[in-house]
Amino acid sequence: MQEHDDIDILVSEVGPRDGLQSIKAIMPLAAKKAWIAAEAAAGVREIEVGSFVPPKLLPQMADTAELVAYARSIPGLVVAALVPNYRGAENAIRAGAHKISLPLSASESHSKANLRRTHDQVIDEVRQITAFIRSLPEAERPGFDGNISTAFGCTIEGAVPEAKVVELARRLMEAGVDGVGLSDTTGYANPAQLRRLVRLVRAEIGTENLSGVHLHNTRGLGLANALAALDEGITTLDSSLGGLGGCPYAPGASGNIVTEDLVFMLDAMGLRTGIDLDRLLTVRQILRDALPGEALYGFTPDAGLPKGYAGGGWGVGPG
Ligand code: ZN
Repeated sequence: MQEHDDIDILVSEVGPRDGLQSIKAIMPLAAKKAWIAAEAAAGVREIEVGSFVPPKLLPQMADTAELVAYARSIPGLVVAALVPNYRGAENAIRAGAHKISLPLSASESHSKANLRRTHDQVIDEVRQITAFIRSLPEAERPGFDGNISTAFGCTIEGAVPEAKVVELARRLMEAGVDGVGLSDTTGYANPAQLRRLVRLVRAEIGTENLSGVHLHNTRGLGLANALAALDEGITTLDSSLGGLGGCPYAPGASGNIVTEDLVFMLDAMGLRTGIDLDRLLTVRQILRDALPGEALYGFTPDAGLPKGYAGGGWGVGPG
C-alpha cells in the first residue's frame, strides 16, 4: 500500500462502483476510463473502480477487470475493488487490484438477502481469501479490508445492535483482514451514533485497524457524520462524484456523500486531500455527458466556490 504522508485525509472515490451499481443505465467503458483518469488528474489518490460480481447480477460491473487494468496504468493511483466472495477476490487479484474489500452485513437478514450468506459463511470466505493472499509472493498481495455494511441500521431489521458490529469487527480481524471499515449503507447514521460506534469498535480491534467510514447522504446527515468521523480521528472517507446513485427509497436524496462537497469542506477547513477542487468540479461534465438524465447532487458544484476562495484553511486568520 502506498503511504500518503503529504495529505491529512484520504478521499476514496467510490462512484464507479457504488454510484453506478445503483442506477439502471450502463456507462460505456470509455466514459468510465475518462472519469477515473480525470479524477486521478485532479489529485484523487484512491478509486474503487468496480465490483467483481457476476455480470448477470450487475451488468454495469461487467468491465471491472478491464477497468482495474486501465486504472493501474495511472501513476500513483490506488486501484480498489469490491469483492462479494472468494471467487470475486481471485478475479480482482488476478486483474491486479491494489486493494480489495469485502462487505459483511451487520444485519444477518440483509446478508442473506444480498449475498445469500450467513455471517459464519462470510467469515469462512474471508478466511479463504486471506489464506489465498498469504500464498502469493509479497509484491502481489493486495490490501484486504472487511467492510461492515448496515453498521448503523438496516432496512429489513431496523436497529442493529452495536455489540453485533463490534463482534463482527473482531471476527473479521481474526479471519485475517488488514483493517475494518464501517458503512452506513442505508443512510441511518447520526453523528452521536457514529462517534459511539467508532469508539466501541476501536476499543475492541485497536485504533489503527479502523481508519475509514463509508457514508451515505440519504437523510442529509452525510457531511455531519463525516465531521464526526474526522473528530474521532478517522482518516479515510468514501464519497461519490455528484452523489451518483441516489436512493431508490428516498426520491431526491443523493447516494454516497458528494465528493465535491466533501472535498470543499475538508479543503476549506485546511485539511490536505491532495485534490485540486477547481479541477475536480470539471469532472462532473463527464458524468453529465455519459449519463444523460441521471440526477447529480451536490451544493458546491451548483453554488460555485466562494468569492476569492483560496483553499487551505481559507477564511482563517486576521483581517
Ligand atoms: Zn454505499
